[in-house]
Amino acid sequence: MGNGSARQSGVPGCRSVLLAAPSGFCAGVSRAVETVERALTRYGAPVYVRRQIVHNRQVVERLQHAGAVFVAEVDEVPAGAVLVLSAHGVAPGVREAAADRGLRVIDATCPLVTKVHREARRYAELGYDILLIGTPDHDEVIGTAGVAPGRTHIVDGLEAARVLEVADPGRLVWLAQTTLTVDETERVAAELRKRFPGLQDPPSDDICYAAQNRQAGAKLLAGASDVVLVVGSANSHNSCRLVDVARACGTPAHLVDDPAAIEDGWLHGAAVVGVTAGASAPAESIGAVIAELAARGYRDVRTVEVAREGQHFSLPRELAASRP
Ligand code: SF4
Repeated sequence: MGNGSARQSGVPGCRSVLLAAPSGFCAGVSRAVETVERALTRYGAPVYVRRQIVHNRQVVERLQHAGAVFVAEVDEVPAGAVLVLSAHGVAPGVREAAADRGLRVIDATCPLVTKVHREARRYAELGYDILLIGTPDHDEVIGTAGVAPGRTHIVDGLEAARVLEVADPGRLVWLAQTTLTVDETERVAAELRKRFPGLQDPPSDDICYAAQNRQAGAKLLAGASDVVLVVGSANSHNSCRLVDVARACGTPAHLVDDPAAIEDGWLHGAAVVGVTAGASAPAESIGAVIAELAARGYRDVRTVEVAREGQHFSLPRELAASRP
């Protein structure tokens, strides 16, 4: 349980919500979603999208309704069609396969993922092996590892760091998936440094601003709430990490994809409910959870701001002219 949350609510028996800001869409997700919307306007349906454009069920369903067709691989897309690549990025082989099919490709890869790809490419060209801290089956990690497949070792946590073997310990750099938790990544990196003292750090912070801000918010909520609800889908890596962060502070935390997922038992005895949302969760989902909590007596909603985000990414060049 969080520290003294019932005291913070002031009035005995008063039930309230603390809403973290920022919550929900980051600049990379906004750009990716807008890319599909504008591609549909410009080229007409269907527009094909490789994998989920962002890891959120409601967003995917809404875009499907508007005419987007989600596919697992490029070979499912008819020759000559429009294909949008998701925010998580792809290995170069995917672009080559799309070019071979004559597809009109619009790349919605988040610029912060592209930055990690550039780092991987540069270090591989310098003869380094890359220790990529991340989840092996996540789309982003598959894409980043594909930039330098012969030189990348995926390190999935502390245990993997302890047993990793490399050919040349003198030329190593570690990089990271953008949505990891800062604390866990630092633990893994510290283990890698212990084993390989010459290990180079990434040239810049790979864990993105949006993940860091939302994690800071989850920590703050955990310290001031009896339970934390994280709005997001189960396959959203950054949303699941927010649950981890809150639980690591000792506060119960649950992922909620929609209001119907809120279980009565979670709120039992809770005076203050913390609410945050992963970077792929739309504002409508956050609003629906807040409305459900209000219907259950949590009508006092206060926002706790941990950061202000002014980031904004321009659309892919094929669509840039279509933005007013
Ligand atoms: Fe980009 Fe970070 Fe958003 Fe991922 S979470 S899309 S890396 S800004």
